[in-house]
Amino acid sequence: MCRMKMVLLFDIDGTLIKTGGAGVTALMSAFSDLFRVAEPCEVPFSGRTDRWIAHRLFRAHDIDDTDANWQRLQDEYLRRLAVYLPQREGMVLPGVTGLLNQLSQRDDVALGLLTGNSRGSAKLKLDHYRLSHYFAFGGYGDHFVNRDDVARDALTASCTHIGQEVPPDRVWVIGDTPIDVRCARAIGARAVAVATGWDSREQLVAAAPDLVLDSLDPADAFLQLLG
Ligand SMILES: [Mg+2]
Repeated sequence: MCRMKMVLLFDIDGTLIKTGGAGVTALMSAFSDLFRVAEPCEVPFSGRTDRWIAHRLFRAHDIDDTDANWQRLQDEYLRRLAVYLPQREGMVLPGVTGLLNQLSQRDDVALGLLTGNSRGSAKLKLDHYRLSHYFAFGGYGDHFVNRDDVARDALTASCTHIGQEVPPDRVWVIGDTPIDVRCARAIGARAVAVATGWDSREQLVAAAPDLVLDSLDPADAFLQLLG
C-alpha cells in the first residue's frame, strides 16, 4: 500500500523569491499606461491575488471591472514582467533551493503552489529563478479575488495530481503573510509562516500558524515538523 502523501503548498513572493520590485513595477506601469492613470493609488500587494489587485485599481479609478479589462491588464503586465525580471535585483530566498531539492526527493511529499500570482506571472517568475520544475500543480490568482478560493482550488488541484482525496491535515501551506495563514485555515490545512516577506514575525505570530520561522534556512525545524 502506498503511503498517504503530504501536500506542501508554497506561496511565491516573499516565501520562495523576491523579484526586486519587478512585479509591482510591471503591474503598476501597465495599469497606468493602458488606462491612462498618471498616478495610480497605492494598493497592497503582499498576500493578495493579482485579480484582487486589479479589482482594487479598477474600482479606485472608476474603470469597469470586467474580464476584458482584466485580460488587457494581465497581457500587458506579463509582457512587462518578462522585461523587468532580469533588470531587477531579485533573489531566491535563503534555504529555498536546498529545501526544495530535499523535499522533491521524498516520495511521501507532493510540492505545489498556492499563490496570488496568476498562472502566467507565477510561471514567468519561477522560470526566471529556475524553480518551476519543482512544482507540478497549484492554485493561482487569475480569477479569485479572495485567497481562500485560491486555497480551495489548490486543494482540488492537489487531489487531481495525486489521484486521490487528500485529508486537509496532510496539507501544509507555507507563506509569508497572515493572509496565507488564513487561507490555510479556510481549507483546514496546517500553516507555516516565514518572516522573509514584508510582515514582521510578531504579525505572523498573531495569525497563529502552526510554526513561525525567520527563514527557510536552515530548514531543520520545518523538516522536523513534517516528520
Ligand atoms: Mg507572499
